Amino acid sequence: MRMSIATVCLSGGLAEKLEAIADAGFKGVEIFENDLLSFDGTPADVRKMTADLGLEIITFQPFRDFEGLPPERRARAFARAERKFDVMAELGCDLLLVCSNVTEDCLGGIDRAAADLHELGDKAKARGMRIGFEALAWGRHINDYRDAWEAVRRADHPAVGLVLDTFHTLARKTDLSAMRSIPRDRIALVQVADAPAMDMDVLQWSRHFRNFPGQGDLPIIDFMAALDATGYDGLLSLEIFNDQFRAGSARSLAVDGHRSLIYMMDRLRQRTGHAAPDQSPLPPRSPCLGTEFIEFAIESAGIAAFEKALSGLGFLKAGQHVSKAVSRWTQGGINIVLNADTAGFAHAFNITHGTGVCAIGLRVADAKATLARAEGLLDRPFRQAVRPGELDIPAVRGLGGSLVYFVDAADKLGKVWDIEFNPPADAKPVPGAGLTVVDHISQSMHYEEVLTWLLFYTSLLDVGKTAEQDVLDPGGLVKSQVVQSADGAIRIVLNASQSSRTQSSRFLSEAFGSGVQHIAFQTDDIFKTAATLAANGVALLPIPENYYDDLDAKIDLDPALLKKLQAHNVLYDRDGQAEYFQLYTQTFDERFFFEIVERRGYVGFGAPNAQVRLTAQARLARAPGVPRR
Ligand code: MG
Ligand code: MG
Repeated sequence: MRMSIATVCLSGGLAEKLEAIADAGFKGVEIFENDLLSFDGTPADVRKMTADLGLEIITFQPFRDFEGLPPERRARAFARAERKFDVMAELGCDLLLVCSNVTEDCLGGIDRAAADLHELGDKAKARGMRIGFEALAWGRHINDYRDAWEAVRRADHPAVGLVLDTFHTLARKTDLSAMRSIPRDRIALVQVADAPAMDMDVLQWSRHFRNFPGQGDLPIIDFMAALDATGYDGLLSLEIFNDQFRAGSARSLAVDGHRSLIYMMDRLRQRTGHAAPDQSPLPPRSPCLGTEFIEFAIESAGIAAFEKALSGLGFLKAGQHVSKAVSRWTQGGINIVLNADTAGFAHAFNITHGTGVCAIGLRVADAKATLARAEGLLDRPFRQAVRPGELDIPAVRGLGGSLVYFVDAADKLGKVWDIEFNPPADAKPVPGAGLTVVDHISQSMHYEEVLTWLLFYTSLLDVGKTAEQDVLDPGGLVKSQVVQSADGAIRIVLNASQSSRTQSSRFLSEAFGSGVQHIAFQTDDIFKTAATLAANGVALLPIPENYYDDLDAKIDLDPALLKKLQAHNVLYDRDGQAEYFQLYTQTFDERFFFEIVERRGYVGFGAPNAQVRLTAQARLARAPGVPRR
């Protein structure tokens, strides 16, 4: 399958779009007419530019409202088509995409449409060109690929083919079985788009919310399996209209697009058992067994305060790196790495972002295979010079320039702590606070980045996504999307907001970019943990009394339990018999905080408490304009 993308998917001017598309490894491009109209140059310039970039212009689109016109408008439509053919000749493109007529005065009848297509096929053929006919989901008479195919079939012309589009087909839940018997050589082009499940007008849904395959909820693989049955091995082209994409970076989006097609073909291979001839099979999505470590990049001046915070949370300094200013802190199955080295990746990260999480180490079944899959998906591997005594741990670039390491138990990687770290001379045993594992990692990002990182995690690891949620911050709405493994061994919360006044957005400006805003640890006994933290002098986020009054009114709680919750500033949620307890530290360095949770069969994230928590945090945050201490 040759992979292509429509210029309409990306932000920027035409030249910028084409460069991004070529750099992302596409071979073909659909030129959207508006991109050409707004381009400061001739179609011949575009032809040269695309050829220089190694791109083929696979289609020029769209040609609208053509078939079924009454006689008085019909001649005009053919004249319009000739003008398009002129442009295509200059562009060096041989396929005109004709989408079904949406106008009121369009006349129905498959035979009429077929006759129009046949005649246009003659005109195209005379110029060595072809036309492809596509059913728009909101077409006046033809809005179903089966009718479009019937019109193409009856047109019975070598220069007239069918264009299939996943969105137009799946948005209307059109039965896919008829697709399987379409002769593959009659399919001129297949356009691919996903979309989130939404209950709205299909035109608005299509124009604003389409996304790359795997980012939405449409059964794309069902469509692809039906297409696969035809033996089609021609062009696959992304055609996405999305408001977030229009605000995003063209380069990053083009890579996302290519990644999404590779991942789609990978899922199709899982379904059908046969691979696309030109794509080497990827290792399977790795199960994620948990978070092995979280690494903070920190300047040496900040170490004492951070170490005090970790001690307060019951962490023990367990190791000092053999050659660098790097220490390891542990508790239960949690490893925190503090990196104050003045060379290397963490240092560079710290200079850009200040104190923050520069890397996450994920426990996977096979680290090397995970890296190979990541590379196959066009993720960016990271390598830095390895000094004697250090391990070369596979890693790729993650959110905001951070790293995602892959650690497995199979070889020396699992012994990283023994090899790279020595027990510190000044180790003082501290009573732990009962923290067991990392429960979830919460990342704040720009609104238009959410789909990028959703695709990054779900294509690479065996994780699923939950429905997107809106969370009310006193500064505005925050969109929250979770990716997690079925067993909860890894849970990553992606947060983004279009308002600049939310905590999520303030984090982005404080930290100079996207990153980890909070980490939640699990405990088996929230009240014991809370008591230890209190004894250690850890400042917790105070929760207002009103919250507990409301909780009492909402949920029939044991008064003793309610009293304990209130005494320890613990938030509570219940889902059936399942219970959730959460408490928060105050914000560290005015941007980062820890959460501690106890889950009793509970699988969510305490969404009903989010607004109370965010408001409590906003109350403590410094007023805008007040300099940091
Ligand atoms: Mg289309
Ligand atoms: Mg949380």
